[in-house]
Amino acid sequence: MDWKKALATAIRQPGELLRAVGLHPRQLPEAIDDATDFPLRIPRAYVERMRHGDPNDPLLRQVLALRRERETAAGYALDPVGDGPATRQPGLLQKYHGRALIITTGACPVHCRYCFRRHFPYDEARAGADDWRDTLAHIAADASISEVILSGGDPLSLDTPRLRRLTEGLRAIPHVRRLRIHSRMPVVLPARIDDEFLAWLGGLPWRTVMVIHANHGNEIDAGVTRGLRRIQAAGVTLLNQAVLLRGVNDSVATLADLSEGLFTAGVLPYYLHQLDRVQGAAHFAVGDARARELTDQLRRQLPGYLVPRLVREQPGAPYKQLAESGEQTAGMTSRSADKSLKAQQKSAETGL
Ligand SMILES: *Cc1c(COP(=O)(O)O)cnc(C)c1O
Ligand code: SF4
Repeated sequence: MDWKKALATAIRQPGELLRAVGLHPRQLPEAIDDATDFPLRIPRAYVERMRHGDPNDPLLRQVLALRRERETAAGYALDPVGDGPATRQPGLLQKYHGRALIITTGACPVHCRYCFRRHFPYDEARAGADDWRDTLAHIAADASISEVILSGGDPLSLDTPRLRRLTEGLRAIPHVRRLRIHSRMPVVLPARIDDEFLAWLGGLPWRTVMVIHANHGNEIDAGVTRGLRRIQAAGVTLLNQAVLLRGVNDSVATLADLSEGLFTAGVLPYYLHQLDRVQGAAHFAVGDARARELTDQLRRQLPGYLVPRLVREQPGAPYKQLAESGEQTAGMTSRSADKSLKAQQKSAETGL
């Protein structure tokens, strides 16, 4: 089946999803939500990787809408990562030095229940309505932008000719030196990685990075691995970002298995995100102490390059903050401040 048809026939009703995996609502530990305003969307290719008859399947948990999402939790917001204040013009975000992120589309092949952009106002804040003219003009006018990130939504929801029009425009801007693509498509709908797409990817003039999004080893089956290997063969550097999710991947064995599966497919783990505190997702949160314990255990088992960096996005900070040391802001943590104070005292003593 081609990818557009696969998207059009994605599952959109909880009842239909449960039937497809052989479950009755009564078998679930909690109530599902039939009328959520962030509706279900799950390609059948993804459903096929769920364990039949398992109400706690880690893939099912990522996509099945629960009544619990309607609960409000203290500290959980509509825009938890400060996308609003970082918007330079519709569909163009700039938070970090040298990098500009384009919201290319609001569409995603799958709706992840924990998504930090689940309340994002895509209708008013999406680029591309002008066939990229305003987006390209902004990037061309700012020589400090050396890396352009295609994000969304999922940029691969756009068809390849539309992506090509965007990169043709970027080619003409000499200060753009790197292109990065953030996409969950290779994981949820590997049929999207077709010959036309690979021809576009392989023909790009930059060293291109693709950051995929897989959270569990069960997401990476033979079809996904094949697609990822073809992306790599097109000369693209592949990285993964995962979100640490309670009941999905919050165990050392699961995280180790994910890293191994990624590496087999030619992907290195990049970030392990602490959940962005978006309204409706509080039940997925894992505490910082537990998260650090998990990455510490992971480090004892795996080579360093298979251990992702545990990060938490702080609105307004100049980079994604390491959650490993309890770092809170871009400045020093109280612990590192303590240490440097001690170092000063010591050097005062020894005269260094
Ligand atoms: C996450 C993000 C990036 C990329 O950050 P890296 O640390 O370089 O991966 C860039 N721009 C925005 C707006 C982001 O949210
Ligand atoms: S693929 Fe990414 S942007 Fe789309 S719903 Fe999932 S987490 Fe959100």
